[in-house]
Amino acid sequence: MIKQAFLIRGGHLLTMDSQLGEMPKADILIRDGRITEIAPSIVADDARSIDGSDCIVLPGFVDAHRHMWQTQMRARMGNGTLLDYSAEIRSVFSACYDPDDVYIGILMGYLDALNAGCTTLIDHCHIMNSLEHAEQAVQAFKDSRARGVFCYGFFQNPEMHKPDDLQRLLSTPTRMVQEARTIRTKHFTESGRIRFGTALTELEWFPIEYTLRELQLARELGSHKVSIHAGLGSSSQYTRFVERLAKANALAPDLHFVHGWGLNDKELRLLSDAGSSLAATPETELQMAMGFPVIGRFRRAGGRASLGIDIVSNNSSDMFTQMRLALQVVRGLENEACAKRRLFPDALSWTTEDILRAATIDGARALNLDGEVGSLSVGKRADIQMIRKSDINMVPVVNAVNAVVLSANVSNIDTVMVDGEIVKSGGRLVRNDLAVLTEMLKASSARIHERAQSFDIPTIRSALQTVFPISHKESMEQRFASAIFNGPSKRLHDWLMKIAVKKANGHRAR
Ligand SMILES: [Zn+2]
Repeated sequence: MIKQAFLIRGGHLLTMDSQLGEMPKADILIRDGRITEIAPSIVADDARSIDGSDCIVLPGFVDAHRHMWQTQMRARMGNGTLLDYSAEIRSVFSACYDPDDVYIGILMGYLDALNAGCTTLIDHCHIMNSLEHAEQAVQAFKDSRARGVFCYGFFQNPEMHKPDDLQRLLSTPTRMVQEARTIRTKHFTESGRIRFGTALTELEWFPIEYTLRELQLARELGSHKVSIHAGLGSSSQYTRFVERLAKANALAPDLHFVHGWGLNDKELRLLSDAGSSLAATPETELQMAMGFPVIGRFRRAGGRASLGIDIVSNNSSDMFTQMRLALQVVRGLENEACAKRRLFPDALSWTTEDILRAATIDGARALNLDGEVGSLSVGKRADIQMIRKSDINMVPVVNAVNAVVLSANVSNIDTVMVDGEIVKSGGRLVRNDLAVLTEMLKASSARIHERAQSFDIPTIRSALQTVFPISHKESMEQRFASAIFNGPSKRLHDWLMKIAVKKANGHRAR
């Protein structure tokens, strides 16, 4: 079926297209979901006209890292450390989701994203507790009308009413392999609005063989992207994970790394040279001791980083916040380096345009979708947002890029379009079931929190503490372990692992 044609008239365009750049007054013609013309004045009588004269018009944001299922726990972890998050969300709440909880949480997560101008997302989906959980996650993505990459997560969550065993992290069970294959075959093609990807278990502290095994599986499944948490600040600064992947010839453009502050400059160069992508998630990284947003260091290594929201169980769900945090932190770090040399900065090396690129075209490039979205370019799919210029916090717009990055918020987004279809208009999502969905989300959140009460979170937390390097002594142990992982002494490593797992299980048993 051919889609309706639209003509957006007289908008202030931030195209993010390297040829077109900024166009203070121009029209965009959209036919059958695609941008077919961009010019100062277009006549198309058959197209539905949208007045853009009071708007900054730009591509939809690209969120290059999110776990969509956590909507029911919005801002629960506002004062939590990474250890708290791992103990509560990853080790308890993840076991408390039924498939219908997955559906409503993920659907509302996408609707929240679309409302915030974010049209393309990658879901690092580590709630694959059963085939039905996976089915519901994919269905929610489809029903939301957002675009992006669904990454089947190999991470095994603990099960309700079953003693936990950390060994579960070290191998992918047959059921997950089969379910990932079923989902891939049933729902995805090479060119659809949603692509199939995979997300690896966090194994960077372990011998590289564990990761390579999952990676081989990810590639056999034909993953558009493979999402990997790595370089989580000080906790992984000795693991040399990327160096070990490079030694195994495993780095390639299909790999998408997330966080990355714990990677050294050589590793960042290896990623950049291999064409692998990298996403920083400023808000979680700053709170959870994962270092600073790596965007500045990655650029110096030759790469262009993207931005992600990561978890709404912790923080905000909009890209304005992520852009501002990332920009001002990277500026602060450079200003601090300057001050240490007893100098005053002559200019800022990071501009508002740089960070807007990270949230749009560089995000699309990171997801290997820049041929389709990420800029307003003739031939690309029409994923577009329109931000009102006359709202009280926006007026007057003296510099449109600065206004979007530093003044705008979600309430200023008037219209959002995905694939040439309007999903938000007049500042409201275009759906008539929002009130029902909202009640479903609240009820699901209450159910999940009730189920979670049967877990002993403090005990689980102290079990996890045995594998978290949170003191000086432990990080020295990790340095030692890292040396072993890189060396020939696999037997010694296996023995240490056994002890670690036993120790953790002992804590849980108590
Ligand atoms: Zn994450």
